[in-house]
Amino acid sequence: MIEKFKEFLQPNQIIDQHSVDYNSFTIERRGNFTSIPKIILLPKTTEEAAKIITYAQDNNISIVPQSGNTGLVGGGVARDNQIILSSKLMNSVLEVDAQNFSITTESGVVLKDLQKAAAQKERLFPLSLPSENECLIGGNLATNAGGINVVKYGNTRDLTLGLEVVLPNGTIYSDLNKLRKRNIGSDLKHLFIGSEGTLGFITKAVLKLFPQPKRTLNVLITLENIEEAEDYFQKIYNEYSSSLTSFELFNHNALSLVKKYHEIKFSFKSTPWYVLMAFDMFEDKSHITDFITKINPDNESIITEDDSIWDMRRLIPTTQGKWGQSLKHDVATPLSNTVDFIKKSLSELEKKYPQILMPIIFGHMGDGNLHFNISANNPNYDLKLLKHEIKEIMVRNVMDYNGSFSSEHGVGLIHKEEFKKFYFNNQYNNLELIKQTFDAKNIFNPQKILDTK
Ligand SMILES: Cc1cc2nc3c(=O)[nH]c(=O)nc-3n(C[C@H](O)[C@H](O)[C@H](O)COP(=O)(O)OP(=O)(O)OC[C@H]3O[C@@H](n4cnc5c(N)ncnc54)[C@H](O)[C@@H]3O)c2cc1C
Repeated sequence: MIEKFKEFLQPNQIIDQHSVDYNSFTIERRGNFTSIPKIILLPKTTEEAAKIITYAQDNNISIVPQSGNTGLVGGGVARDNQIILSSKLMNSVLEVDAQNFSITTESGVVLKDLQKAAAQKERLFPLSLPSENECLIGGNLATNAGGINVVKYGNTRDLTLGLEVVLPNGTIYSDLNKLRKRNIGSDLKHLFIGSEGTLGFITKAVLKLFPQPKRTLNVLITLENIEEAEDYFQKIYNEYSSSLTSFELFNHNALSLVKKYHEIKFSFKSTPWYVLMAFDMFEDKSHITDFITKINPDNESIITEDDSIWDMRRLIPTTQGKWGQSLKHDVATPLSNTVDFIKKSLSELEKKYPQILMPIIFGHMGDGNLHFNISANNPNYDLKLLKHEIKEIMVRNVMDYNGSFSSEHGVGLIHKEEFKKFYFNNQYNNLELIKQTFDAKNIFNPQKILDTK
């Protein structure tokens, strides 16, 4: 098999277990899965990707697409005899069309580099995640990534105009559309966005750009109770929906952990909850600062243009790992249920496991998505023993509040059971039909999302 690929790929496009880079493709960052692919291939062009996929199709070899390998649900994990097909060398930004407010890119561009390419032409590409220095836009598209700016700009799906994808049969679906309005039947790009590599290999995309704000104003508020967070969101979003880009919540435990391992240069009083917001500034900022002071007379707030205030939020996910094991729940609820969901879940966990758990709650409250993660007060405690019980509580609560057990990370391997349980006969069966249509031999990322044989 390798000989076949050597006919049209350079040595640096073929990686096996003897290569120095091997682990960066095979080790999943949480250590929950290890990939054992037959080989890792890195096409440089769509045509090379199509050749690889055609060969795999003809020879019944499974393909696992991969980009930055920062996904957290096992979607990029490969089993025996599978090929990891990586976007990493398809890393050119093809065009920044400032006049059309669009950017055309290959799928292997690092998210941060895409933001920079847009900024060089005074445009904003607003997708922003704590993993943005490592994740690639192909992975963001395949997972429909969310991040901190969804309140104003939406998630990756909302930012996508066109796509190019190599389908499982080796043909190229190319629709690098730059139009915002084009009604020519069902828009197939939406099938691939969020499909977690099960329907094809994304090779290029056209994405929306926006005017670059003159400045960003960041506001941190200390809160005595969770109800206040909801109350502030309603007031601020009603007044400043066109400027508010981020409304992030985190609890005292989350901040304490970050402070244990990192220096935070801002000082403010310790409270049970905090909200960090960002506003795109095109005009005078005084009216926003006046408004914040007016609605928040009793609590402390910090208002600053210094972006480093976001470090305390950005560092939460990685710092949690330094403390010890953690159980992660990437959940969403309708905004109207968020506070009740948090209170119910916290009280249930405290009642069942008094003094044992340290909930680290943080996330994108403005769009209803929370990372309701659980660490243990004692970092040596083996949380794995409680993993299934706690997951059951969290999934039950989130579904009782009409939410989702997966909000932005996807289904991958770790949420297949819940997906089948809650969406069978509805989303599940229809996705199976779509999968059979595009990938009858089930060679693309088999066993991810669905149990299709
Ligand atoms: C510290 C940290 C913070 C994070 N914060 C957020 C956050 O705020 N919001 C959020 O949404 N996510 C977040 N994530 C999760 C992760 O970064 C995102 O899911 C990201 O979009 C994955 O991109 P990737 O390039 O790493 O993809 P990978 O992990 O390589 O792949 C993810 C999935 O996409 C598929 N895939 C990859 N490339 C392609 C391709 N070219 N064609 C078809 N399928 C493909 C894979 O098969 C896999 O199923 C975070 C992760 C970390 C580690």
